[in-house]
Amino acid sequence: MSALPGRLVLLGHPVAHSASPRFQNAALRAAGIPLVYEALDVPLDALDATLDALALVHAAGNVTIPHKEAVAARCAELSPLARRCGAVNVFWHQAGRLFGDNTDVAGVDVVARALLQGRCEGARVALIGAGGAAAAVLCAVEGWEGARVRLYNRHMIRAERLAERFAGFTDVSQSIDEAIRDANLVVNATPTGLADDSHPVAISALPNGAAVFDLVYRPEETSWVREAREAGHRAADGEGMLLEQGALAFERWFGQAPDRGAMWRAMHW
Ligand code: NAP
Repeated sequence: MSALPGRLVLLGHPVAHSASPRFQNAALRAAGIPLVYEALDVPLDALDATLDALALVHAAGNVTIPHKEAVAARCAELSPLARRCGAVNVFWHQAGRLFGDNTDVAGVDVVARALLQGRCEGARVALIGAGGAAAAVLCAVEGWEGARVRLYNRHMIRAERLAERFAGFTDVSQSIDEAIRDANLVVNATPTGLADDSHPVAISALPNGAAVFDLVYRPEETSWVREAREAGHRAADGEGMLLEQGALAFERWFGQAPDRGAMWRAMHW
């Protein structure tokens, strides 16, 4: 993007809990960009009118639950990854047109690669959940040669629909036990553990040596990640993914990399 956007916003419902304003505003200050990143709580029935108003000021921003698919449908231009995912988490206006991209996929990829110590090729992934975040995981795994996914979701029909979109390397499992068998990466793409200390997969059931990736993030690490690490598993929560998708969004808006250290410090100090 050449000119600065008129506003920089996060569209979601709810959004009050989001950490994005904290670290995006730290990145803006570090870069000397005179904008404030605002969280906008937009109910479903207000999304169209909000997007119309934002277009008038050439706004840019992020999108979170539950609007990622709806914003993708509104975009005049989608990146290949946003099209593949069917979801947009970053948008901007250019020459009066709405552009959408997806940096969640790269956020997943960065964290998963670190957990697998770079050995993503041929990975055996157990994926719990079949919503938008699970689609981002599948888009990332699609880039790993020879990797396979076993997908489990409490509503089987949703798992089947998602697996169809990623056929060739994705199989639906009938149970969590079946999904995690032989996995070397177990991913939680459900909100389990967000509001309490429940675990998407029992620690005792995790295969030996499997890495654990919880897309959920909380001010402190999730109980699942903490206990998995105590049991000897490499483990990460969703904070690294959140920061990385945000850093890559900043690059889309301003054509420059943000100060990732400033973003990280804003989350922890
Ligand atoms: P979504 O599209 O609403 O999908 C939610 C998924 O979780 C569905 O598969 C749903 O299953 C399942 N689920 C919901 N409640 C459950 C429960 N109590 N027990 C078991 N499964 C349950 O949401 P999403 O966008 O995929 O996000 C999922 C989670 O990922 C979020 O809660 C968030 O914590 C995390 N996330 C993190 C980042 C990050 O940057 N770290 C980014 C995006 C999302 P059904 O189909 O059966 O309803």
